[in-house]
Amino acid sequence: MEKPRFLSSNDLEQIKIEFGTPSFVYDEKTLKENARSVLAFPNEFGLFARYAMKAAPTAAILRIFNMAGIGIDASSVHEVDRAIRSGYGTESISLSSQELSEEIKYFIHDGVKVNLCSLNQIHRFGTWLPNQRVGLRFNPGMGSGGTNRTNVGGPASSFGIWKEDLEEAKRLCGEYGLKVERIHTHIGSGSDPEVWKKVASMSLDIVRRFPNVQSLNLGGGYKVARMPDENATDLQEIGEPVKNLFIDFAKETGRKLKLEIEPGTFLLAHACSLVTHVQDITSTGKDGYRFLKLNAGMTEILRPSLYGAQHPIFIIPEAGQEKFRDYCPQVVVGHCCESGDLLTPASGDPEALAPRNLLRGEVGDFCVIESTGAYCSSMSAKNYNSFPEAAEILKKEDGSLSFIRKRQTFDQLIENEVVP
Ligand SMILES: *Cc1c(COP(=O)(O)O)cnc(C)c1O
Repeated sequence: MEKPRFLSSNDLEQIKIEFGTPSFVYDEKTLKENARSVLAFPNEFGLFARYAMKAAPTAAILRIFNMAGIGIDASSVHEVDRAIRSGYGTESISLSSQELSEEIKYFIHDGVKVNLCSLNQIHRFGTWLPNQRVGLRFNPGMGSGGTNRTNVGGPASSFGIWKEDLEEAKRLCGEYGLKVERIHTHIGSGSDPEVWKKVASMSLDIVRRFPNVQSLNLGGGYKVARMPDENATDLQEIGEPVKNLFIDFAKETGRKLKLEIEPGTFLLAHACSLVTHVQDITSTGKDGYRFLKLNAGMTEILRPSLYGAQHPIFIIPEAGQEKFRDYCPQVVVGHCCESGDLLTPASGDPEALAPRNLLRGEVGDFCVIESTGAYCSSMSAKNYNSFPEAAEILKKEDGSLSFIRKRQTFDQLIENEVVP
């Protein structure tokens, strides 16, 4: 029988007794290993790696990356605030946001960097803080992603300044005296080295038209293999041709560009497992399904319902019980009154049930859902059906477990309500 990635049966027993379920458990060792892989990304003239903190923004996680020498990619002014509160210095933070609020000017004044992501953002930012140094995020006209929903480049994507608006962007920056010193592209999660090379080359074409740009940020989007049939991005493999393009660019222009990358998924995905319990079982007859109902669901992990994403699932009975169990196809569902609350959809099709061959589950078994570090805890349907937000736990390098975010209380859940 396959074993969970980093959770022992002793860990699970301790979680059940001391912390309760559902709980996200992050593994410090994996987080640090992933940080090291990111910092080894091929580069010729210097690398600065940022963590796309929207993947999982808890302070204890940010602190691990801070100590590893990784900066921050923030996606809202609130994330900037959160990173600073966790201990990050303003100079390590860069903001690329779909919504640029005016508050950002105070942070920029104090060293936070910004990538303006639309013509309107240039205009607004220019009126708040003329003559600043800025970065521009472009949509280079091409994307790569597992699904349409994770593809953030190309004509169907609203992220960044459309490539054909480049001259207009330049003109607007000129109007406000904004000095463009960074170019940013982030095109989504793909593993194809050819696509990376192509986008890097398109991005360098953009850099060519901004003579004062000193660094090119290629974003994140490195794919991880959650399931055995998925392809992971090999950072060395996609990085090597990109490095050569930077060398060629330097030969041609004399400009030695610094490379920035900002992975979220790559750093987090495999570093966390969601520990839940099976709390009920329903069968719908011979032509139906055997459903395992968890004490968690879309309130913790939305990716299966949203994208038809696949996560490894382990049914773990009490010690010694597994030898009495066989494997059978089962559908795993969440605890919400919502038929879309499904943990085993068909791949890429959130509406279809795809029974998974799992150890026959019984009420009281642990159900561990793996590779839930990125965009799970941070992107859930929090508090739907009034379920409190799950706890987060860190498994430290010495093997001990501690809370990094306590379970939400019922009082916290309703604390902002007012009955006039
Ligand atoms: C979300 C995001 C990332 C990280 O993407 P991953 O696919 O998690 O690596 C990087 N850059 C920007 C601008 C983002 O919005």
